[in-house]
Amino acid sequence: MIQTFIELAYVAAAILFILGMKRLQSPTTARAGNQMAAAGMLVAVVATLFLHDILSPVEMISGLVIGGGIGVLLARKVEMTGMPELVAAFNGFGGLASALVAGAEVARYLMTLEAGGAGDMSPAIALAPLDATTIITIVFSVLIGTITFSGSFVAFGKLGGYVSGNPIAFPGMRLLSVLVVLGALGSAGYMLTGAGDSFAAMNLEPIVQGGLALGGLALLLGVLLVIPIGGADMPVVVALLNSYSGLAAAATGFVLDNTALIVSGALVGASGLILTTIMCDAMNRSLINVLLGGFGGDDGGGGPDVEGARDDLTVNETTVEDVAIQLAYAAKVIIVPGYGMAVAQAQHQVRELSDMLQEKGVVVKYAIHPVAGRMPGHMNVLLAEANVPYEQLFEMDEVNSEFSTTDVSLVIGANDVVNPAARSDESSPIYGMPILNVDESTTAVVMKRSLRPGYSGIENMLFYNENTQMLFGDAKDSLMELITAVKEV
Ligand code: NDP
Repeated sequence: MIQTFIELAYVAAAILFILGMKRLQSPTTARAGNQMAAAGMLVAVVATLFLHDILSPVEMISGLVIGGGIGVLLARKVEMTGMPELVAAFNGFGGLASALVAGAEVARYLMTLEAGGAGDMSPAIALAPLDATTIITIVFSVLIGTITFSGSFVAFGKLGGYVSGNPIAFPGMRLLSVLVVLGALGSAGYMLTGAGDSFAAMNLEPIVQGGLALGGLALLLGVLLVIPIGGADMPVVVALLNSYSGLAAAATGFVLDNTALIVSGALVGASGLILTTIMCDAMNRSLINVLLGGFGGDDGGGGPDVEGARDDLTVNETTVEDVAIQLAYAAKVIIVPGYGMAVAQAQHQVRELSDMLQEKGVVVKYAIHPVAGRMPGHMNVLLAEANVPYEQLFEMDEVNSEFSTTDVSLVIGANDVVNPAARSDESSPIYGMPILNVDESTTAVVMKRSLRPGYSGIENMLFYNENTQMLFGDAKDSLMELITAVKEV
């Protein structure tokens, strides 16, 4: 009876996960989708705890309150720009949890056999012998889970600036990685020698020793896989590790024979992989190219500043008053937000300015590049927070043909996503990446603090174009001044 009830609860949880993910497709339903998926997770967790009869209701509720409390605290505290870091940390813990659960399963065998029996406190988790298939699923859980853990924390460090964002490599690194992979395969093979179809045929010693060696080597492998990748590609790596954490969870689901874990793990694995592909496509890079590393470095550092700009080229610096006049008398303005808008937290001022212009009869549209900012949907989330109507947001393919009929493109803290080198300079690392064609508009006003490059570390010749005007300063400060100036026009 209770078993049927739990299986039904798992089906309900899976339905909630799928419906929740479906709702994440649109900003209008995303919030509800998130809540649905969270409710699904609650159902699955509570059902599992009943299944295994592991904890008392008091312990169960305490765990939910403590874990939920930490989650709420983190989600409230984290800045929007710190979201990829938080996701990286969550992925890492997800991977670690999967590996630990698989390890705990082996520990349970050790303790039970040492106590002299193959049974356990609950009939629902009575032990079956560890055969080759089960050992293979344990190998996957430990291997993928631990790689996800260490890899995610290197990504966390690179995103947060605790570790250098530059690709890190040392002589013999590839050879070391190959040796570690061979060592991991050897450990997995050693674990398999302990498998048996009956308790008499089973040998826990190689399973435990091989498992520990596998965990240690996978830990090192996670670090070796992520350190050679540049900071610019970290969000892609985080999406990929998210997929890995799902695969590790699904493998653990097989170890425990738990449907909810298999389904949710598979959903995370597949959606993480789809997201990774979408991000690679938007940057016109292959996943292999991302994983082989070497692209991008520390955020915007090292490039020329205003004073140190190229001597051979002229920069047209403009003023707030001049931009205010151009905006107020324009027929059409396209706003191009980028990472700098997120840093300056200028989305509310952007909205205010665009409202004022629309009151003056100017047509205002927002052009959203798929990789603007530091995570997928970054700009959409920020603009939604400032209540910018969704109808004014246009994706790159929809809006790109409109720049040629636009009076002013207002580029707010965007850099790489408007860099014409992607279109014309075959030697550029971003060559082939689709960009927003702001240089085709009558005037492109670029708001940023200096001439320093964006995340890819590449110089942007747009800043030196004849029809480009640079409005230097923090995006929020400049926008506040612009709002005052437009009022006076
Ligand atoms: P960029 O990183 O290219 O440029 C952002 C610019 O914002 C910088 O050049 C900086 O210039 C400026 N800036 C920073 N702070 C402020 C501030 N307070 N006020 C005004 N300007 C500021 O951003 P884009 O959005 O154009 O491009 C995103 C990049 O991230 C791409 O290279 C993309 O490939 C990469 N990426 C994005 C992913 C995603 O999912 N969104 C995933 C993977 C990679 P200055 O210092 O002069 O002010």
